Parts: sequence; structure tokens; C-alpha cells
Amino acid sequence: MSERVISDTEKFSERNRLLVQVDHEICAGFADCVGAAPDVFDLNDDSLAIILDPDAVEADVLVEAAEVCPVSAILLFDEDGQQVAPEL
Ligand code: SF4
Repeated sequence: MSERVISDTEKFSERNRLLVQVDHEICAGFADCVGAAPDVFDLNDDSLAIILDPDAVEADVLVEAAEVCPVSAILLFDEDGQQVAPEL
């Protein structure tokens, strides 16, 4: 199987079977995601969110982090490519 960890803005959580993405075109560095899941998200030197370890928490915490982002820059997808958070 190919490596699914693509970059610090896109990582696959094996534990939760979810793809986590951060859209740096949208991210405004509010850090709400870091507050919701500090083991998963951090800010880089440009104050943009990066993904540390998407397996550090359970799925509900990933969903919460995606939901609290005020600009919906964090997206979660299931293995079928369906967006699971934030709610459409
Ligand atoms: S909450 Fe959203 S805007 Fe703020 S740092 Fe995280 S991804 Fe970026």
C-alpha cells in the first residue's frame, strides 16, 4: 500500500480512517483547531495550521477541531472521499 501521509497539510488517520486536510488558502491562523486538538494541530512559522499526528485523538475530536475553525479550513473525508466535517 502506498504511503498516505502526503504533507503537513494532508494526512491520513489510520486510527480513524479519515483524511485530514488543512487549506492554507483559507486558514487565517486563529488557532481554534490547536485549542481543540493540540496533539493534532499546530501553527507553523507563517501562523498557518499544520497537522502533527492525526492519530493522536479519536474521530470526534478531529470533527470538533474541524467544526470550530471559523473559516472551515480543516476538512475531514472518509475513505469513500465523502466530506464528514465540517457539515455541509
Ligand atoms: S482554526 Fe482554522 S483558521 Fe485557525 S489555525 Fe486552525 S485551520 Fe487555521
